[in-house]
Amino acid sequence: MKVLVLNCGSSSLKYQLFDMGDERVLAKGLIERIGIEGSRLKHTKVGSDAVSIETSIPDHKVAVKLVLDALLDKGHGVLSSLDELSAVGHRVVHAGEKFACSVRLDGAVMDALKECVPLAPLHNPANITGIEAITAVLPEVPQVGVFDTAFHQTMPKEAYMYGIPYRYYEDYKVRRYGFHGTSHFFVANRCAEILGKPIEDLKIITCHLGNGSSITAVKNGKCVDTTMGFTPLAGVLMGTRCGDIDPSIVKFIAEKEGSVDKADSLLNKESGVHGVSGISSDLRDIEDGMAKGDERATLAFNMLSYGITKYIGAYAAAMGGVDAIVFTAGIGENCSLIRESATASLGFLGVSVDSKKNDFRGEERVISSDDSKVKVVVVPTNEELVIARDTKKLVSL
Ligand code: ADP
Repeated sequence: MKVLVLNCGSSSLKYQLFDMGDERVLAKGLIERIGIEGSRLKHTKVGSDAVSIETSIPDHKVAVKLVLDALLDKGHGVLSSLDELSAVGHRVVHAGEKFACSVRLDGAVMDALKECVPLAPLHNPANITGIEAITAVLPEVPQVGVFDTAFHQTMPKEAYMYGIPYRYYEDYKVRRYGFHGTSHFFVANRCAEILGKPIEDLKIITCHLGNGSSITAVKNGKCVDTTMGFTPLAGVLMGTRCGDIDPSIVKFIAEKEGSVDKADSLLNKESGVHGVSGISSDLRDIEDGMAKGDERATLAFNMLSYGITKYIGAYAAAMGGVDAIVFTAGIGENCSLIRESATASLGFLGVSVDSKKNDFRGEERVISSDDSKVKVVVVPTNEELVIARDTKKLVSL
């Protein structure tokens, strides 16, 4: 069975084609600048060199058509006919409280996703456009939606409610949702496999640290708390997002900047590691800055590290203990320094990271010392594989 996985952003489209017989990726690619001058497709048939095609891509329908053409191409393609495509799985950011797991897409589900647009005004419209583009080109092919918010739907009410008048929850569904759910689900389950224990018996803290970062408490396989909130702005310091701040600062900044929209943009796009360091949102640049003795680079790094430590402590308390800590995503998989510094003061919890074992990047490994009560594991995330697996499962029912 061949499954196409799509991740549509407002001006981008990422894709991977899986052969679900052995879960192998056959081809993958990225379209950038949809609807903007200079749009292009980068396509890779696995095992071959990437091809780059620059062409006008005015909308997602054209983008989807281009992806299918690339998959069918005699030279760099991997399909001889579109009949080989059994299903398409989509990453969808927000399903509100409507879906706690992946679902087959139909008219009723699409209506539900459209109702969630006010909750994710930047992301859901792009996801919906991608689904509609596939429906237009491949009306007979079943499609599945896999939601960033779904895994977090098991949080207890005391963890997801905010201390604001209850009617904001009843009337507008203002609550903590959490994001990166597919990644937290994947790495928590993989961690349990690595430890050789049923996930139902484990308390795991998963640290997804990328451009956007979130930390999740996974008790017995279920999410019980997560750092991102109503939007992905909450939690630890991120590349350009501020993370947790006193909400009154929003009003203060809005008055200084002249509008709430400008304050919102400043907190999303000019804050975080970038805003504090004044250098970059990329942790590699921050590490370079630290090596040169740059104080603000060091401060940004320490703020991120401290935030991770603090949440690990909080979630160990929330779960009544912790058996394993997982690091994943661009920073979690690649930055040994943050793994070491964020866990350095956690000896009292039974966490001991072995510096030698930790000295690597980009692989799956246990980095805790042999006598560490709490296992610390690096697991490269694979959201696309979860989407492909859920898609296969749902269309096979
Ligand atoms: P996204 O949230 O966009 O999916 P990623 O998970 O790809 O982001 O993470 C991107 C971040 O990973 C970069 O901004 C960079 O800070 C970090 N990163 C990647 N490689 C390294 C590395 N070798 N050392 C430190 N940080 C790294």
